[in-house]
Amino acid sequence: MSTPSAATLAKLTPVLTKRWLSPDAWRLDVYERLDGYAALRKALAVHPDDLIALIKDSGLRGRGGAGFPTGLKWGFIPQNDGKPHYLVVNADEGEPGTCKDLPLMSHDPHSLVEGVIIASYAIRANRAYIYIRGEAVQAARRLRHAVQEAYKAGYLGKNILGSGYDLDLVVHSGAGAYICGEETALLDSLEGFRGQPRLRPPFPATHGLYASPTVVNNVGTIASVPYIVLGGAAWWKTMGTEKSSGPMIYSLSGRVKNPGQYECSMGITLRELIELAGGMQDGHQLRFWTPGGSSTPLLTGDHIDTAMDFESVAAAGSILGTTAVQLFSDQDCPVYATYRWLEFYHHESCGKCTPCREGNYWMVRVYRRILSGEGTLEDLDTLLDTAANILGRSFCGLGDGATSPVTSSLQYFKQDYLDYIEGRKAPKLSAHALAGA
Ligand code: NAD
Ligand code: SF4
Repeated sequence: MSTPSAATLAKLTPVLTKRWLSPDAWRLDVYERLDGYAALRKALAVHPDDLIALIKDSGLRGRGGAGFPTGLKWGFIPQNDGKPHYLVVNADEGEPGTCKDLPLMSHDPHSLVEGVIIASYAIRANRAYIYIRGEAVQAARRLRHAVQEAYKAGYLGKNILGSGYDLDLVVHSGAGAYICGEETALLDSLEGFRGQPRLRPPFPATHGLYASPTVVNNVGTIASVPYIVLGGAAWWKTMGTEKSSGPMIYSLSGRVKNPGQYECSMGITLRELIELAGGMQDGHQLRFWTPGGSSTPLLTGDHIDTAMDFESVAAAGSILGTTAVQLFSDQDCPVYATYRWLEFYHHESCGKCTPCREGNYWMVRVYRRILSGEGTLEDLDTLLDTAANILGRSFCGLGDGATSPVTSSLQYFKQDYLDYIEGRKAPKLSAHALAGA
C-alpha cells in the first residue's frame, strides 16, 4: 500500500471526527471528559442573536448537499411572531454512497445533541426533532441513549443548566423512504402524513413543521456548531477556502484500498483524498467518480486534480453534494453503474409528479434494452430527451438528481453505450431482464 506523503497527511483535519477513535465516546461521562458540553455552557451565556451572527461569520454552509449558508437560514426565522419555532435535524442520510452522518451519530451522538441544544437556543425553539433513517437502528439506539443521558444531566428539559431556557428533543425514526430526506417530505412524514414533497416557497423557515417557522439542518451542520462556539469563527475559517470554510467529512467508497471517512479542510483535491485512502486498488485506474453521491454529475479521471469545495466542483461541471466520493475504475462500466442508480431512483420516486414517476420508469426500460444487447442508436436520443423533460420540470430534487448520471455518462462515455448497441461489448443483462420491458 502506498503511504500518503507528510504534506497530504497534514491535510487531515479531524474536528467532527476527532472522538471517533476514543472508545465509548458515545457515553456522556467520556464525552464530558473530552470537552463535551463546554460549548453549551458558553453558548447559554451569549445572546441568541449573537450566536446567529457567529455562525454567519464562520461561513458554515449546510452539510446535507445544497451548501446553503447556515447562519442566513437561522436568520430567516421570524422573531416575536408568537408562533412556536422548531429545529429539525435531517438525519435521513440515504443518498447512494453517502456515509458521514450515520457514523457520526453512532460514535459521537452527544456532539449532535449538544449542537441541537445550541442551535435551538439560537433560533428560540423549545422543541427539536432528529428525524433518522429507519434502517439506522444502531445509530438511533445510540442517539436515544444520548438523549436520555442529556435529560438526566440537565442538558435537556426545563431550565437547562439554570439558564431559564427549556428544550425537549425527540428522536424519530423514519420508515426507510429516500424521499423523506427531502426536507418538506420529511416534515410531512414527521406530522404523520405520507412523506411527499411540498411546494416551495414558502420555505420551512417560515412555514415548516405544523406551519410554524422551522430550521431544517443536516447532522453534520448541527454537529459543527459546538466546535464553532468553542473555537470561534476565525479558527473555523483557517480551514477550507474563502467561500467553503471549515472541515468536511468525505466518504470514499469503491476502488480505493482503504474506503472510509476522511475529514479534511475543504479544497483538498481528489488526488490527495485518494492518496489518503491508500491509493487506487492494485491494477485499477480511476475512470469515473461522483463528487457527492449519485445525484451529482459524474466526473472522469481527467478531473483528478479538482479541489473538493463547492465552487471548484461546480467549475468542473458537477456538484459537491454530500461529499460521497464513489470511485470507479477502468474495470467498471459507466452504463451499468448508471442503470443501477436509475433503478434506485425509479424505486424511490414518490410518484407525485409525472416527469419523475414516468421518466425514470422509461429510462430504466431503455437501459435494460441497451445492456441486454437489444439497444438502438435512437435509444440514446430517447434517454437525452427523457432526461431533458425531467430536469427542471420535476416537483423536487429527486427527479433532477436522477438525470445527473444519465446525461454525464452520455457526455463522457458515449462510446461505452455504442459498444453495447453495436455488439462490441457482451451484454451485461440477460434477455429475461427485458421481460415486462
Ligand atoms: P435547496 O438549495 O433548494 O435548499 C437548501 C436549503 O436552503 C433548504 O433547507 C431550503 O429550505 C433553504 N432555502 C433555500 N432558499 C431559501 C429561501 N429563499 N428562503 C429560505 N430558505 C431557503 O436544496 P434542497 O432541494 O433542499 O436539497 C438538495 C440537496 O440535497 C442536493 O444538493 C443533494 O446533494 C442533497 N441530497 C442529500 C441527501 C443525503 O442523504 N444527505 C440525499 C439526497 C439529496
Ligand atoms: Fe416525487 Fe419524484 Fe416528483 Fe420528487 S420529483 S415529487 S420524488 S415524483
